[in-house]
Amino acid sequence: SVKNSGRNGFSYYSPALHNAALVRMRTTNDLRVALREGQFEVYYQPIATLDTGKIAKAEALVRWHHPTRGLVSPDEFIPLAEESGLIVPLGNWVACQAISQLACWQQTYDPNFKMSINLSPVQLRSQDFVDMTWVKELKHHGLQGNSVIVEITEGLLLNAENRVNENLHLLHQAGIQIAIDDFGTGYSSLAYLRKFNIDYLKIDRSFVADLDGVGYELCLAIIAMAHSLGVMVIAEGVETVQQSQTLSRIGCDHIQGYLLSRPLPADDISRFLSGCSDVVIN
Ligand code: C2E
Ligand code: MG
Ligand code: MG
Ligand code: MG
Repeated sequence: SVKNSGRNGFSYYSPALHNAALVRMRTTNDLRVALREGQFEVYYQPIATLDTGKIAKAEALVRWHHPTRGLVSPDEFIPLAEESGLIVPLGNWVACQAISQLACWQQTYDPNFKMSINLSPVQLRSQDFVDMTWVKELKHHGLQGNSVIVEITEGLLLNAENRVNENLHLLHQAGIQIAIDDFGTGYSSLAYLRKFNIDYLKIDRSFVADLDGVGYELCLAIIAMAHSLGVMVIAEGVETVQQSQTLSRIGCDHIQGYLLSRPLPADDISRFLSGCSDVVIN
């Protein structure tokens, strides 16, 4: 039989592979249902400005409450949402939620509060992105474009297609700011920062975790380079007071991480914001 010829070690059928494929198919189908039935929730993680000690921003991070599996991590379902194209409607939904939450925090907490939203390369490469439903949502709430930051990854900028250029241009036109997420893990290039008019770099948390080692020199270099180009720096994954102090000393602009708070539902972050005058970060 062709199923397992044995001699050349060539197998046409692998149960493990088959199972993995089935799980992906099932999960993709579940994602479609989840979108329809409202199983997603947006969590928020605060971002502090180091020289004032104030929480001035938050990052929107999507969560999936799966009916049988419980809370599923975005690292698990975002890739599948990207493959299936579901990331476009899901990303729109996340952005709309985040923008109405932003309107609320600007009214109740700080009129200059900013919201940072992750965009998938698939969204920036898609045609549908051009009508940007969620950008209209900004106007609907009477918010300034520059109160939104979109986080993109370096890989997107490497050989950026025309469509990506056009979409980034549309974002700029709307006044929206652009951050490079997980900076330092990809094709990190000075040229991109200039060419694409980047506003923020987010230093990947692996460098922050290694501030006692080579991460320190890397953070120093990234901050110097960014500042020389007028780009602001946000350090991700800050977990200790010591990391926060070191980053503050070397001129990092903003920090984000478990030291301040884990990502939490909007109501918890509202409570956090109203009581955060006693948060000590440096
Ligand atoms: P990211 O954008 O780099 O988000 C930061 C991740 O680091 C979050 O994981 C956050 O919970 C985690 N984190 C924050 N502070 C700390 C810390 O102090 N220590 C440690 N160990 N981790 C920390 P999360 O929420 O699981 O999200 C994972 C990734 O999924 C995100 O990485 C982002 O790439 C993607 N993602 C999440 N939401 C969305 C979304 O709405 N759209 C798209 N396209 N991607 C999303
Ligand atoms: Mg991010
Ligand atoms: Mg990141
Ligand atoms: Mg990441």
